[in-house]
Amino acid sequence: MLTVFGSIAYDTIRTPTKIVKNALGGAATYAAISASFFVKPGLIGVVGKDFPKSYQNILERFVDTRGVVHAKGKTFRYDGSYDSTLSLRTTNKTELNVLKDFKPVVPEEYRKSEFVYLANNDPTQNTRIIKEFDNVKFSMCDTIEFWISSKKDDVIKMMGSVDSVVINDEEAKLLTKTHNLIKAAKKIMEWGTKYVIIKKGEHGSLLFYDDVIFSSPAFSMEDIVDPTGAGDSFAGGMIGYLSSKNSTKMATIREAAVYGNIMGSFAVEKYGVYGITGLKKPDIKKRFDRYKKMVHF
Ligand code: AMP
Repeated sequence: MLTVFGSIAYDTIRTPTKIVKNALGGAATYAAISASFFVKPGLIGVVGKDFPKSYQNILERFVDTRGVVHAKGKTFRYDGSYDSTLSLRTTNKTELNVLKDFKPVVPEEYRKSEFVYLANNDPTQNTRIIKEFDNVKFSMCDTIEFWISSKKDDVIKMMGSVDSVVINDEEAKLLTKTHNLIKAAKKIMEWGTKYVIIKKGEHGSLLFYDDVIFSSPAFSMEDIVDPTGAGDSFAGGMIGYLSSKNSTKMATIREAAVYGNIMGSFAVEKYGVYGITGLKKPDIKKRFDRYKKMVHF
């Protein structure tokens, strides 16, 4: 089984052409929905009393929601603006709300999960929750500038408690204080994780393991609408695929990174989660086959 833990959010997304307010978002939301095309993940997270039934219904369509807690207070809120190239995002506001004092509990049914993804979230909560699983074969975490700036030591500790770290290039540079991605990955590995996957947005990803580097391009897209959640969809696709194969072999991890790129490419095609919620499994297979042709030489 795969469990995904992290933020479930109300997002405000500002692109040069449109502003979408109170969209269903959150790192765990994107990751779990993306993973659901490979396995049925269990989701752990917290929402407030303002979380609408319609959003709960979307989650229920894709994932096991027994780990989603409805707490008193407001749902976590994120507000971000993109520049005209859609590749640079500025965070306008992060309101932790119910996420702030959340004490996550792993439902009994999820405890035996062999695959665990700690999506973007308070690193202290992430480090605590990973210890609650009995039988983890492969764990992975992500982080974001907000946590690097506010809880850097905890982010480093979290990274040392998982098998793999997936992080975007700018955040990897910020965290390790280096501009070179190889140096950044090596530094993150020194903290205790075995694999580092650096996401480079429209430029794909780099997977590091020992002294191996596996580079996979992004699926080239002509029309990008909203990049929000692309990184989370990448991670969800990657760990969802690994979980479906119940394997942590290097060859499977490489394939999983390709599925990550494919899922990220769907996420950017529509605002909010709708780039991935509208998908059918054959769409993924078709894009995977086109990707294979694209990189073949
Ligand atoms: P991405 O575009 O993949 O970097 O992820 C964007 C998602 O991460 C949005 O849906 C946000 O709700 C969520 N998010 C943004 N900031 C944070 C944060 N500080 N902690 C947890 N989740 C966050």
